Amino acid sequence: MSANMLRSIVIVGGGTAGWMTAAALSNVLGDHYHIRLIESDEIATIGVGEATIPLIKDFNLALGIDENEFMRQTQGTYKLGIEFVNWGKIGDSYIHGFGKIGQDLGPIACYQYWLKMHQAGEASDLGNYSINTLAPRKSKYLRSEPEMAGSPLGDINNAFHFDAGLYAKFLRGYSQARGVVRTEGRIVQTMLRESDGFIESVVLASGEKISGDFFIDCSGTRALLIGDALKCEYEDWSHWLPCDRAIAVPCESVQPLVPYTRSTAHSAGWQWRIPLQHRIGNGHVYSSRFMSQDEATSILLNKLDGKQLAEPRYIPFVPGRRKQTWRNNCVAVGLSSGFFEPIESTNIHLIQSAIARVIRLFPNMGFQQADIDEYNAQTQFEYERIRDFIILHYKATQRDDSPFWNHCRNMEIPATLQHRISLFSSNGRVYREGQELFGDVSWVQVMHGQGIRPQGYNPLVDLRPKDEIRAYLGNIEAVIKKCVDVMPTHAEFIAKNCAAA
Ligand code: FAD
Repeated sequence: MSANMLRSIVIVGGGTAGWMTAAALSNVLGDHYHIRLIESDEIATIGVGEATIPLIKDFNLALGIDENEFMRQTQGTYKLGIEFVNWGKIGDSYIHGFGKIGQDLGPIACYQYWLKMHQAGEASDLGNYSINTLAPRKSKYLRSEPEMAGSPLGDINNAFHFDAGLYAKFLRGYSQARGVVRTEGRIVQTMLRESDGFIESVVLASGEKISGDFFIDCSGTRALLIGDALKCEYEDWSHWLPCDRAIAVPCESVQPLVPYTRSTAHSAGWQWRIPLQHRIGNGHVYSSRFMSQDEATSILLNKLDGKQLAEPRYIPFVPGRRKQTWRNNCVAVGLSSGFFEPIESTNIHLIQSAIARVIRLFPNMGFQQADIDEYNAQTQFEYERIRDFIILHYKATQRDDSPFWNHCRNMEIPATLQHRISLFSSNGRVYREGQELFGDVSWVQVMHGQGIRPQGYNPLVDLRPKDEIRAYLGNIEAVIKKCVDVMPTHAEFIAKNCAAA
């Protein structure tokens, strides 16, 4: 080990971000580094954040976590996608599924063949061509196994819903077993080195001073280190993302146990519904410019499926990101680095990708500005592409039933998003830019689902006879339907493999 190498890492905060960071670093760094996590019992974690995207499986896999055990410990359920209700117009419903659409024919996406036939009135709903969108409609789930390759059953792609508090507890046990030292205490001061502004230590209310070489700020929206101490600015995106409040409330479970998150648009925002094994998580995300708290609460409470289990919790937020999430010897992970409303369940993923980036750019021989700049550039790219995807949900609507939707329909959007909408509107083309999170299938499903209809399609589709295309699409639809028919229900699958005690 070089004399200049950092040895001690201090993680500030013990929410999902703090414990995910502690688990991943303790797994990778072993006992070569000293990792300490500070959290305060006086300051609650945000306590929401229960729906994920499929890449979370890679995180658990890298940690060597057994999936069934994880599901039992966190009251987890499977998630095949997100159902969007009333978004394009009132009465609409589509699923953004995590799987693929059909089987591509050479270089041309299946979607293009479907588009031609759909425009001719000869193809059924897009949702019938993906197992990840058809299975949720029937409350079915089956875990893909290697022997299913070649069948749509091998294409099932899932994420999870879980209880956020139980997940943090689970990862805390994992991290402490690998040597992470937990300190309970409230940080009241951050000490900076005079010469260069690097963080030297944090001071607890008890007077204890905790020093470190590398600090990870997981203190949530308080952003104790990256914001308060290092003064990294926050970029506010509320001119594009009008919602700035959430109300969360759990209710009792009801049947069937669906394998998807539901997002129902209301007159000034939307409601989430996340089914877990032991309860349903619900929330209303809305814009305080267009709706009062009382009205938003009453809409939410009137639309619960089961008996309300707790008092509503009120959570204000500012959509946006910190312009730099790594400065000096401090990286912000989690809500301290930025926040998107949970419409596409992206925040836990942003924790995961920040941790992966820290590991790939792990400091050597002190802190190199080139590493820090690269980290910040990658983070900016990731945030901005996700931002565009989320704005799309608001912009692409025909709803004109409230001032909120009129505002969204008419608002200015980033040029990057406008370009994508124009490209899709002409011939249904989509592209994934660099390492951006959401791929072609996600963009297609949301643009189509929200009512954008391309004028044409890729003309190379016409090189195949129409009968051949009809047979090809018919076969995909029939095989997917047959597979879904034989799948167990989501509830049966959980009861058999991973029901919580
Ligand atoms: P927090 O949970 O707020 O944790 C902060 C920690 O810092 C706590 O341990 C606290 O004790 C500690 N702390 C703070 N100040 C001090 C101090 N002075 N001294 C010592 N310790 C301190 N994400 C998803 O991926 N999917 C979702 O479905 C989803 N839904 C969401 C819904 C809502 C309404 C909101 C607001 C967020 C949602 N998120 C979702 C985001 C997700 O909840 C967060 O990304 C995740 O929980 C990470 O939070 P955190 O750990 O950064 O912060």
